[in-house]
Parts: sequence; structure tokens; C-alpha cells
Amino acid sequence: MNLHARTFPQSPCRHGSRSNMKTDELREKYLDFFVGKGCLRRPSDVLVPKDDPTVLFTPAGMNQFKNQFLGIGPLDFTKATTCQKCLRTGDISNVGVTSYHHTFFEMLGNFSFGDYFKREAIHWAWEFLTDKKWLGLEPSRLTVTAYLDDDEAVGIWQNEIGLDPKQITREDEYENFWPAGSPTNGPDGVCGPCSEIYYTPPSGKKVEIWNLVFTQFNRVGDPPNNLRPLPKKNIDTGMGLERTAAVMQGFESNYEIDILRPLCDRGGEILGVKYDFASPVGRPLRRIADHVRACTFAIHEGCVPGPEKENYIIRLLLRRASMEGFLLGKREPFLSQLVPMIAEVMRKPYPELHQTIEAVSHVIESEEKQFLGVVERGLTKFRKLVDQARSANRTSLSGDEAFDLHQTDGFLIELTETLAAQEGVSVDMARFKECREEAKKASGRGAFADSVMSEGPIDALKKSGGTEFLGYEAIESKASIRGIIADKKLAESYSSPLVTIGIVLDKTPFYGESGGQVGDTGTIRTASGEFTVYDTQKDGELFVHIGQLKTGSLKVGEEVTASVDASRRAAIRRAHSATHILHHALRTTLGENATQRGSKVEGDQLRFDFAHPRSLTNEELISIEDQINQLIAEGAPINTRVMPINEAKKLGAMALFGEKYPDFVRVVEMGDFSREFCGGTHLSNTGQVGICRVVKDELVAAGVRRISCFTGPKAIARMRESENLLREVGMLVKATTAEELPRKVAALQDELRVAKKELSQYASQSLAGMAAKLVNDAPMVGNIKVIVHRADELAREQLKELVDQIRAQAGSAAVLVGQAVDGKVSLIAGATKDLAQRFSASDAVKAAAKLVGGGGGGRAELAEAGGKIPEKLDEALQEGLAFLKNKLGG
Ligand code: ATP
Ligand code: MG
Repeated sequence: MNLHARTFPQSPCRHGSRSNMKTDELREKYLDFFVGKGCLRRPSDVLVPKDDPTVLFTPAGMNQFKNQFLGIGPLDFTKATTCQKCLRTGDISNVGVTSYHHTFFEMLGNFSFGDYFKREAIHWAWEFLTDKKWLGLEPSRLTVTAYLDDDEAVGIWQNEIGLDPKQITREDEYENFWPAGSPTNGPDGVCGPCSEIYYTPPSGKKVEIWNLVFTQFNRVGDPPNNLRPLPKKNIDTGMGLERTAAVMQGFESNYEIDILRPLCDRGGEILGVKYDFASPVGRPLRRIADHVRACTFAIHEGCVPGPEKENYIIRLLLRRASMEGFLLGKREPFLSQLVPMIAEVMRKPYPELHQTIEAVSHVIESEEKQFLGVVERGLTKFRKLVDQARSANRTSLSGDEAFDLHQTDGFLIELTETLAAQEGVSVDMARFKECREEAKKASGRGAFADSVMSEGPIDALKKSGGTEFLGYEAIESKASIRGIIADKKLAESYSSPLVTIGIVLDKTPFYGESGGQVGDTGTIRTASGEFTVYDTQKDGELFVHIGQLKTGSLKVGEEVTASVDASRRAAIRRAHSATHILHHALRTTLGENATQRGSKVEGDQLRFDFAHPRSLTNEELISIEDQINQLIAEGAPINTRVMPINEAKKLGAMALFGEKYPDFVRVVEMGDFSREFCGGTHLSNTGQVGICRVVKDELVAAGVRRISCFTGPKAIARMRESENLLREVGMLVKATTAEELPRKVAALQDELRVAKKELSQYASQSLAGMAAKLVNDAPMVGNIKVIVHRADELAREQLKELVDQIRAQAGSAAVLVGQAVDGKVSLIAGATKDLAQRFSASDAVKAAAKLVGGGGGGRAELAEAGGKIPEKLDEALQEGLAFLKNKLGG
């Protein structure tokens, strides 16, 4: 499990190929082998987990079995095998540097939860690798490592498998223990030694293909003697699919195998270069292939590029891939063209990718377009920074500058680094990293949910099982208190009011937030007190009622009555059923590609996110709203059924890509038009929605649109509000009926237009009068009138008109007018044509502007300037006057 990068020959040379086994075949062989050993074949977990706050993406096969490893919750099997989609952000910088690290990769695993242990794990791994029926690898090319103190493992490898001691190396806890270094440094909890298996090709550079982890200890406190044997020992192994496929296909680079080489070639085709491992375009094309593959899988699951967390990783990967193309001279978006090829090489194991090719491509293309725009602008700024650095005799860009480019301009730090290197300039990366840390803003769940949902107490409660959910049938029930979570700890009893705490019951009618539907609110009553629930959250099978004690006290074991806020729940049911109807209407109107990307269901209010490349037309929106209300009016029955997931899929029930479903799923059916996987609370008949209004259609992320609707009373209230508004406007414009409004408003607009025209004529006349007076009273220098005047009362645009009027009326004049309004100074200088040789209005205005802290310029006849020190305006006008007299007097 170490993260240190080894160097590996950057060569694609094909060593004596053994079987040329295809990757698809290898995947199946592995799973078949372990099924043969009694393991249950389980599907891959999602790539983007939504219920595990500790990781952004699934990093290994064992993650979906965390609870089984911790001994929490029910366990209906004790041996499993999977092929898991993984994404390791920690390996981003290894991609292209080594030839066997990807961001996205597949991990083949076999797992035991208190079932088989070290002996079987080692024997089976060996059998799979070397037996002719399976991979048939040459035993002498395999070497293994074991943890320093793990004599048991070394004994098995040496005495039972018969490995030469030279093929076995012992390594320390940082190399061969999981978690790395945990005996010394912690954390406490389950841990154990591991044993890695390496393959050495003829070139002599070995690569790790499989890691066997023997979780056999519980760490308690600091060494020595802190590793206690677990009563039930576990096995967790991970074999890299791509690495092993490379071995089987006789390559030293993963990127040459049958599911990756076509992507490198395709990238080359699109960019007009030929992919070759060792050529300068080799590494960029490998990165592009890797990153787009990772993004395709993540976006398929609904994870779109964005500013935070996993969304940011996807943005970063797309930008890095796009940047590689940019550095190879590509100026248009191109990444999305790889998507169909990715779906194709992955067709066998992941046929569902085909269904989102269009949506995924669109997301990628919009993000890339946006990025390229950013690059253009960033380049200009970057060049300026390099010039500035050079002229200040610096050979590096400061970390703050680089961070500003990265953060404010979206000009990736890698881009700055690469381009700076080309210019022979370095970047202060240490400072850059500091800036980035400073800017990292805290995000995540609200503070109270965080403290109440903290893992320790919840995990402890989970050990005695989940909460039984009664909310499909009931909104009130008797229950007993199983746990009280206060201040991140379990409490036996509680009596302080006004502190947010969490309560876990043995059973509950409260719906815990999930599947887009918000958690229920309500009250929990005890013999002595009342607890107000203002949110219900779910962690696995456990429901946590979050809220505050209003009166009395609570204690574990006590009988309570839990009552959900009935009218809010009814409103949520209306909105949820309407969401399914909307989903159906969207797909009939916009086509099958309008796949769901997410939803949020609240009381009589819902929003639905879906893949669609453009905004909806008014006709489309109306048609959608009509269809929804038609289906409501039909009063179709709504039924729910629980069935095996495969049966539900066969029936064509719509599932959300990237959502994790159990083996038995709940399917919600409406009439014969809608069938969806859904755990939410619904009406029994579509007619109960009453009415549904579409209130908004907006863009929320590249290629993802959001429709918001109101249902039932809220929809009515909304319409009433609009009517009231109309009525108010009607009263203001004195219309007696709504139909009269447009005509009335148009008439008002006409009136206004006429009035404005008159006003401006009048203003010109009065400006003309003002100009005449100024010309008349003006002091003369020789036969030239010199007019300097302050006019705060005029509008900004009128200043210029005043100057023009003066120039038109006076035979020969030099003018400077100024005003200070709202803290801003404006100055305009002008001269009649005949004075063009004597002085420039531009110089005059500049001379004055200097005093008010501003600048400007223009032509010899007319020039403008601004300033920001209004209290100095009079002084500035004096300065201007002196300037003019000086010019004209001389
Ligand atoms: P390395 O030291 O090579 O990064 P690791 O110690 O991080 O490997 P594990 O966490 O033990 O690897 O994962 C189990 C197996 O998954 C590895 O033996 C390897 O075959 C595969 N693997 C791990 N990381 C990657 C990656 N980034 N790309 C492809 N395969 C990987
Ligand atoms: Mg690693």
C-alpha cells in the first residue's frame, strides 16, 4: 500500500508474450477462479461514493466492505470477490511518469470476513498466477515481500509454496503493513501485515501486481505489545487488472494493453500525431487517455466538473488533459471525441457507458471550451508576469502570482510551470502551495450534522443493528431510545434544552434524508419531555433524529412516541411523486438522453437535474407542464414493490447511474408510464399531487440543467402571488382588467418617450443659454475667450454638450469645465479649431487632472479626464486656467 513511485523503463518492448490474454478474459478468469473457491461474486461499488465522507472516489476493492471488516451490521456472506472501479487522486502525478499508474483503474479483489485466512489467500493467489489452467506465469519470475515479523507468511511462501528464499524479501511496517506505519503511529483499530507479489519481465524491472492484506490485529495504544489478535481475521487483496493484463500480453507498459492502447492511438489521431511509446507525444497521449477515461466513468455516475471536492478533481483532470493537447498545439476542444472509444473498449464489463456517451461528451466539451477561453486570457497575463519578472531581474515567478493565475484566472499551475520552464523561468512552488492551503475553504455538511453524525458513536450503535423504518405505512409510532449522541459522544441520558443532539430509536416513522428526499421533521415525546426533530439523517441502516429538547429529559431504553410532521410529509410526498412524473415527461419531450443527474425533494417543492445540452424552449416547457398535469388528472395508481435488483432491471425500472443499490430494491410504479428504483415516500395516486407548476429552468453545470417545480398548495399560492402582482400593477397603471395591461403599459412607455425627448430639447436649450452667458462673461486673453467653469449641477453627459455649445458659439475660445459628483471628478477641456496650433486640450485636461489624482486625454480639440479627489477640484480648475493663460499669453 505504499505510495512511493518506483522508476520503470519507459519502453513498450514486448517481452516473450505468453498467452496474449485479453483484459476482458483476465477479469472474468479471476472472478471465476475465486467463485470456484466459494467467494460470492459482487458487483463493483460505485466510483463516486455518496455515503462515505472519508473518500472522494473509491480507492480500492475493500471500501464497499468496510462495515463487514469492522464487524458492523448483518453479514449474509463471508467470502467475496469483485472487480472494483477505482480512482486514486494520489496517483495523478504518477500518470505518465511511471507506465503502470493510472488515476482510474480496476482492482480485482478477493475478501474474507472471518472466513479463510493467510494460508488460503497465499495458496490461491499462487495457484491463480502460476497454474496453466489460469494465468500460467513462470514461477521464477515472481517474487514476494512480507512484513518483517510475519514469520507465518514467510513460512507459507517458503515451505508450502516452495519459493526460493531469494524470492522473498521482508520489509518494514511502512512498506508492508496496512495502514502503513500503523503499529508505531496508529491509528488504533483493525490492521495487519501484507504480502506483495511482483512480476519481473525479461528486462529485469519488476512491478507490483497483487497485494495480500492480512487484517489480523486490533491496535490498542502505543507500542510495545499493542497489537492484539482479532478473534475473526480478515483477508483483503487487490490485484491491478491493467498491470496483470500487461504481464499477460507481454508489455512493460500498461498503456499498450488492448483496453488502453486504442485510446492512446485515438488521441494521436485527433491531435494529428502518431502515438508511440517513446516519442515526445507518448507521455501526453497517455495522460490524455488516462484522464478522459477517469472522467468518463465519473461523469457517467453524475459527477460533473466543479469548484470543490470530487467535482474539482474531475475539473482538474479534464483541464490537465486539455492542457496536454494545448501544449501540442490543439486550440479547439477535442477530449470528448475519446468518449465513444472508451465506451467501446469497456463495453463488456460496463455496457451502461453506452447510454451516456452523448451526455458525458457534452459535459466534457463544455468544460473544455470554458477552459480554453481561460487559457487564452491567462496566457496574456502570464506573459506580462514573465516580462515583469525579467525586467526586475528575477528568474522566478512568485508563488502569489502563480496562485493568482491558478485561482483567479483558472490558468492551471501545471500550465504556468510548463510554460515558465519553456521561458527559462521557475515558479516558487513552496509559496504557491502555501497560498493554496490558505485559500482552501472549509466545506461540507452543516456544523450540527457534523457533530451529531460523527463516526465514533454511530459506529458503536451500528454494532447492534440498524433502525427499523416504519415510515412507508405510518407517520407515528411507539419506539424506544437506543442511543443519544451529544457532543460527539454517546450519552446515557440528557436533559439540557437548546443544544442540538441526535437520537437513535429502535424503529421510526421518520424518513432519513436520502435519494434526494429531505429528512422528516416532527416531535419525539417521552413520559417527561418533548424533543423537537428538525432533521433526520441516515448513516447506513441507522436513522439519527437531529434536534433539541424542548422540555424534560431523555434516557436510553425509554419508551417514546415519535410523530412526523404530517402536513410537511404530505407535501413531500406530493413533490416526490411529481418528480417521477416530471422525469417521465422530460424523457418523452426531450428524448432518452435526458437522463437524471440528481434531484432534491422538499415540501411541495422539487428540483430535478438532468443531462441536456441546451436551454429548453418555451414550447418544450409548456408541453412538459401540460403532460405532468395530464398525468395528474388521470389519477393513475402508484404502487411500490420490493424485488431482486436483476428482476427490476429486467422490467426496465429506471435507476440512477452512480447510485448504490442493494440486492433487493424498492420499485415505484405509476400507472403504466413510470417505473423507478426509489426508496422515497409517495402518494397512492397521481391525482393527489393536485397541480404542478414548472417555475424555473436553469443551467447548473456544464451540460446539466435544472427544472424546479411547485406542487399542490404551494403551486396555487405561487399563481395567486402572480395574480396579485398583476392586480397591483394594474392598479398602478389604472387598468381595470388584466387584458388591458399590455396596452396601458405600452401607452405609458410612449408617453415617457415623448417626455424624455422634450426634456432633452429643453435641456439643450438651457445648456445653450448657459453657454451663451459663459461666453459673454468670459475674460479675454488677447482676442481669445478663456472659459473655466465648475458645473456640479449638470449630468455627466451634459458637460461635454456644454463644451460643444461654447465652442460653437464663441469665435475663438479655450474651455475647461469640471464637476465633482458622488466622489468622482470629471474634467473636459476643449478648444475652437483655430487654436489647434496654440495648445492641446489633451495637455490642458491632463494638467488639471493631476491635482485630483487622475488622468485622461483625447484630441487637441476635445479631451476628457477623471479624478478621485473631489475636494481639490477648484484647485485643479485654477491650475487649468493658469495653463491656458500661459499657453495663450505666450
Ligand atoms: P504502488 O506502490 O505501485 O503505487 P500500491 O501499493 O499503491 O501500489 P495497493 O494499494 O496495494 O497498491 O493496491 C493493490 C494493487 O492495485 C497494486 O498491487 C497494483 O497492482 C494496483 N494499483 C495500485 N495503484 C494503481 C494505480 N494507480 N494504477 C494502476 N494499478 C494500481
Ligand atoms: Mg500507490
